[in-house]
Amino acid sequence: MNHSKSRALFEKAQKLMPGGVNSPVRAFRAVGGDPLFMARGEGAHLVDVDGNRYLDYVGSWGPLLLGHRHPAVIEALRETLEIGTSFGAPTEREVEFTALIRQAAPSIEMMRLVNSGTEATMSAIRVARGFTGRELIVKFEGCYHGHVDSLLVKAGSGVATLGIADSVGVPAAFSATTIALPFNSAEAIEEAFRRHGERIAAVIVEPVVGNMGCVPPAPGFLALLRDATERHGSLLIFDEVMTGFRLAWGGAQQRFSIRPDLTTLGKVIGGGLPIAAYGGRTDVMSCVAPLGPVYQAGTLSGNPLAVAGGLAMLRTLEQHPEIYDQVEQRTARLCDGVARAAGPKLTVNRVGSMFTFFFTSSPVTDYESAKRSDTAAYAKFFRAMLERGVYLPPSQFEAAFLSGAHTDEDIAKTVAAAAEALT
Ligand SMILES: *Cc1c(COP(=O)(O)O)cnc(C)c1O
Repeated sequence: MNHSKSRALFEKAQKLMPGGVNSPVRAFRAVGGDPLFMARGEGAHLVDVDGNRYLDYVGSWGPLLLGHRHPAVIEALRETLEIGTSFGAPTEREVEFTALIRQAAPSIEMMRLVNSGTEATMSAIRVARGFTGRELIVKFEGCYHGHVDSLLVKAGSGVATLGIADSVGVPAAFSATTIALPFNSAEAIEEAFRRHGERIAAVIVEPVVGNMGCVPPAPGFLALLRDATERHGSLLIFDEVMTGFRLAWGGAQQRFSIRPDLTTLGKVIGGGLPIAAYGGRTDVMSCVAPLGPVYQAGTLSGNPLAVAGGLAMLRTLEQHPEIYDQVEQRTARLCDGVARAAGPKLTVNRVGSMFTFFFTSSPVTDYESAKRSDTAAYAKFFRAMLERGVYLPPSQFEAAFLSGAHTDEDIAKTVAAAAEALT
């Protein structure tokens, strides 16, 4: 494969942007080699600037549940360009969009639209603190909630990929408001509430973790979080930026039948445009200005272009609920095929259309077990797959995704490529 144009662009980009990129994991540091510059996407495929074509299992890191350039999304965007891209005033589509979200996830009685998942989690914990009058936030090691100062403690995603313990630049006083516990540990939760129960404003969790690679919750773990927070007057925040509308129409909270107090959404709800949301109980969300004293605002929040893209995405999913089963079955076939080809050296975790090939023979249930993976082996696999036209996440600690645009033939090709790459 020729990558000369990508290489030339990367040369220039490195002088202009840290690592040549606008988000760290894109730099391919953990897999060796230079990032590929993309020219366009079409359905399940990406085409780079040198004209190489890849089957895409990154899907813009989660949003593209319907693949690249889904006609409904493109048409909605085209129509919106005729009326304008931002008014800084409310519009009819925001009402339709938020009503659709509430219909899908009834725990989200009232919400705010923002522009990124980071903004959503930052705002959600502020509201939780404002509502409870408490300061401490419990999070889990290896979960990533965006680059919010106090949530960068033992974070997953790029922080895990690059082996950064806790980000420099975060005041110690901020980190001190965060308690980081091992994911899936009932004892750790009980102990934290025994010691600090009266001071814990909220527990924030990825109900299915995607940001240390895909790690499902142990049976009963989410119910335990629901119960412990309720007993101690703390709020339960489901960070569904990745899982919302991906694991089911109603997200992980529907799949696992747990009603959180607050939820954050992003990725899929934007259909590939920058939009995210936080919301939940009406009494809690009534703390947000102008109803209450917790301040949160945004110049471009709920802008017509992003809302149109998101609305087209959600309406398509609503009208085609069969997409979820179809995508899940294909993801299962892919994962089973690769697991069979690899044998015991691989642990494959999957929930719905989220999955990770962990290069370890032991189960991956939390950050410690995820970190026991052979990242050099993953890097080699990644490069071998790329040469065969398959674009996987450039990190062992990122979930991969299927979209509705991936066909049975794509799956068969990918399994065949993996069987070769693994030998
Ligand atoms: C991606 C992600 C975020 C951050 O969203 P951005 O839009 O990248 O700021 C937060 N939480 C989870 C669970 C995510 O997967």
